[in-house]
Amino acid sequence: MPITQAAEPKLDGKTALIVGASAGMGMASAKLFAEHGANVVMIGRNQQRLQAAADEIGEQALPVVADVRFPDQLEAAFDAAIDRFGGLSVVFNNAGPGDAGPLSIQDMSVEQFDDYIALNLRAVFLGMKLAIPHMERAGGGSLIATSSVAAIAGVTNGAGYSAGKAGAHALARSAAAELSHLNIRANVIVPGAIVTRFGLPSDAVQTEEEVSRRRERQRTSSPMLRGGESEEVANLALFLASDDSSYITGQCIVIDGGMTAVNHWIFANRPPD
Ligand code: NDP
Repeated sequence: MPITQAAEPKLDGKTALIVGASAGMGMASAKLFAEHGANVVMIGRNQQRLQAAADEIGEQALPVVADVRFPDQLEAAFDAAIDRFGGLSVVFNNAGPGDAGPLSIQDMSVEQFDDYIALNLRAVFLGMKLAIPHMERAGGGSLIATSSVAAIAGVTNGAGYSAGKAGAHALARSAAAELSHLNIRANVIVPGAIVTRFGLPSDAVQTEEEVSRRRERQRTSSPMLRGGESEEVANLALFLASDDSSYITGQCIVIDGGMTAVNHWIFANRPPD
């Protein structure tokens, strides 16, 4: 379906760079941002999925293949964005989770730990750093990162991932302290269980059966008895990208259907519906 302009566009004429836009929450955000008038620079490793998503959006989209664990590739993607659209006012550092797991702390090598950090923390830092001069030139901007509820509560076999995601919270707070005088805001989206292709290798094809199994598995992750949808996260990303959130910075906003709000013992033992 072709992308249509929203009745009250919230990002008219702005350019948003979205890391991890070839699937899931990033792809849904790219589509929603474009509906709201933004040019979108879409970054991911899978050329085919990236191109297909960009084709759906049309001329407002620029797909750029890059593995953001490698700083030079992320820098080249920013250069391509500026060449095409001339500036940037939204950067959404959303890629995850990396292919090196799941592993316990005892079994994880230093190289595997570094790989998680390269994707979930260092790339977020670099994405912020590269964005700042362009946002300053534009008179302000919005930096958004995606972390995880794994950043606020321990998970088994995910220490590298959790540590990287938790670091993104600290980066957003530091950015709020350092960049508010430039009218640059920085916030983090903290998702619970969302129905995406999260955890599948980049080149794997996701079947309808796999999506159904995932939905079923995520049903008991929240008191709402369902996982979230990418489009629900995209709504939050749009809010944070736009002036609707003009007085919000340095915040980590949980979107998890109540997963972290309830006592799981009570939830698990509640009377049947
Ligand atoms: P998806 O797997 O659907 O999307 C992840 C995106 O990140 C893809 O576009 C993928 O593209 C991209 N990506 C992964 N590695 C790299 C890399 N090295 N360089 C560039 N792009 C990369 O997952 P989600 O939409 O679920 O994930 C979005 C964010 O939400 C992630 O940060 C994830 O950690 C977080 N999250 C997800 C949860 C969930 O339940 N789904 C829960 C909590 C947090 P490609 O394969 O083309 O490289």
